[in-house]
Amino acid sequence: MFRNLKAVGRVLYGRNSLAQLDDVLNELRVENDSYVLFLVDEYFDGKDFMKRIPMHPQDILKIIDITEEPKTKTVDEIVAEVKSLGKGNPVSVVGIGGGSVMDYAKSTRLMFNNEGSSSLYQGLDLIKNKGVHCTVIPTISGCGAEVSMTTVLTGPVKKLGIKGNFTPADQLVIDPDLIATVPEPQRFYTAMDCYIHNIEALNGHRKTVMGDSLGIESLRLCREIFLSEDSHTPENDEKLMIASYLGGLSLTYSEVGACHAISYGLATVTGVHHGLGNCIVFNQLDEFYPEAVKEFRQMMHNNNIDLPKGFNANRTPEEIEKMIDISLTLIFMWAHVCGPNWQDIITREKLRGLLLKM
Ligand code: NAD
Ligand code: ZN
Repeated sequence: MFRNLKAVGRVLYGRNSLAQLDDVLNELRVENDSYVLFLVDEYFDGKDFMKRIPMHPQDILKIIDITEEPKTKTVDEIVAEVKSLGKGNPVSVVGIGGGSVMDYAKSTRLMFNNEGSSSLYQGLDLIKNKGVHCTVIPTISGCGAEVSMTTVLTGPVKKLGIKGNFTPADQLVIDPDLIATVPEPQRFYTAMDCYIHNIEALNGHRKTVMGDSLGIESLRLCREIFLSEDSHTPENDEKLMIASYLGGLSLTYSEVGACHAISYGLATVTGVHHGLGNCIVFNQLDEFYPEAVKEFRQMMHNNNIDLPKGFNANRTPEEIEKMIDISLTLIFMWAHVCGPNWQDIITREKLRGLLLKM
């Protein structure tokens, strides 16, 4: 049985396309009291950029603190607070920021029409009702949340996506100017999430011609950017945004692999952010992706990136075992990497050995 997949709805793409956001949202403002809920990355708070957000007087703006990655608790709080105003549902929830803010927008909009805590819906196809309209506007590129059918949340028991056909955004705005200000090494870490998505999607049992075709082009763009002399140019920013889009889409038709399966455990225990966590893990995965890990190190070298050393040096045995427990729950990922008999290959000892090298 094939899944009848849904990706993002409409895509507005081009330099300064953000200037058209008001027109896009005005199509949805059909009633006098229609309002938009804007969720904006804290980086932009107090900056001139805020004047470019087409807020109408009745709209609601929330600046999103992303010191920690998105939490079900915060999603629930935002929805409860907005609902308590008695204004009805917003006509769109607009997320302006990186994967964290886009995931907040994608999950918040679902919870306007679904009862209870968002943590009840972490998993595949658990959402019952369509959410309200959602617009995502990436300001840092690589994670692919702008197009993916998941929104990754940390709940009381697990870090797991709310995944399914209700999750993708309805509107995406790809404006390459918006990522110009992302500092290194953050830009590199998030971009490498895209590189790693492609490597993982292209190498495994669940790969498809559709996933490969998108992943190969995304990978070509990543190489063009990060093996070049100067990776951080306006032209490369545009390529990076498209690489992220294609890489995210490629995952819809394949699966992530060993790096994500291990980095989810690492992130749950240590709180390390997704891009950096993936880089720390991927750097130890010669056994799984030998050529790509070499290429990744070349990219780090070309871009003067030094990963933290001894990241797990002071972890307790309990912490390491918890990372392993979490990693071993990601059975789809491991089956993609090693096939149906993955449990014969991915042992606790192997994972422990890898984690202790990080
Ligand atoms: P992020 O959203 O966590 O942001 C990283 C940093 O970049 C933050 O400090 C932010 O303030 C800053 N930033 C963002 N835009 C900026 C700009 N224009 N200028 C300067 N600084 C800017 O980063 P990310 O790597 O895009 O997202 C990671 C999150 O995405 C994680 O929570 C991860 O779980 C999630 N994720 C989701 C998916 C998905 O498909 N839904 C896939 C992968 C990762
Ligand atoms: Zn990722």
